[in-house]
Amino acid sequence: MVLRNLFRAVIMGPPGSGKGTVSSRITESFGLQHLSSGDMLRANIKAKSELGLLMKSCIDQGQLVPDDVIFRLILASLREMEHSSWLLDGFPRTVTQAESLDSVFTVDTVINLDVPFQTIKERLTSRWVHLPSGRVYNTDFNPPRIPGLDDVTGEPLTQRDDDTPETVTRRLKAYETQTQPVLEYYRSKGVLATFTGTETNKIWPHVHAFLTKKIPQSQQVQGGV
Ligand code: ATP
Ligand code: MG
Repeated sequence: MVLRNLFRAVIMGPPGSGKGTVSSRITESFGLQHLSSGDMLRANIKAKSELGLLMKSCIDQGQLVPDDVIFRLILASLREMEHSSWLLDGFPRTVTQAESLDSVFTVDTVINLDVPFQTIKERLTSRWVHLPSGRVYNTDFNPPRIPGLDDVTGEPLTQRDDDTPETVTRRLKAYETQTQPVLEYYRSKGVLATFTGTETNKIWPHVHAFLTKKIPQSQQVQGGV
């Protein structure tokens, strides 16, 4: 098999900015592999792995987990996807993480979802997730077909332990101080693309149009949007 035209992207944005939702649409439309650091951590917690239990208190308090821990976790998965195009969601979250990633893989594009903090606070409290897949619903604007159940599997949805108002405030603080510098890092490398808005459904067509131009035609899945 000839491996060419690999596309490596990162999606960024404050907690609750729609990264999960936009990521699933991107992976469906463009056939990229999706890797979400938050989903990986939550899977570890659910499986009660040593790492998961160690990280749970950190996450529940709205703090970032240590750079070396998350990097080791991500790197193992990235190595498995070495020959695929991918989209990273939730990583890198600090400049140290971005530098570590750079030492192994070059990122082609960084999609930045720029959503006002006020919108986010309102959103997170009405968010429900399907843990195994990472699919996200919102009782206000993106409800599941049957209340409380995942559309695809019919399995129960849950609310995240870190979606309480106090923890959301702390996560937004962590985002401001630790993650916003990562945007500058990628801006200076010329790979940052920012999409501003308050509604995922309005931001998405712009992201779709942008990626349609960026991603090699050979990779695009028929019948996008
Ligand atoms: P959303 O899922 O709405 O985008 P979020 O960005 O806060 O919100 P996740 O990406 O799911 O949530 O991450 C949840 C938590 O997992 C974070 O608050 C943090 O504690 C931990 N975490 C996830 N990714 C990283 C990372 N790259 N570095 C450090 N901690 C991380
Ligand atoms: Mg997420």
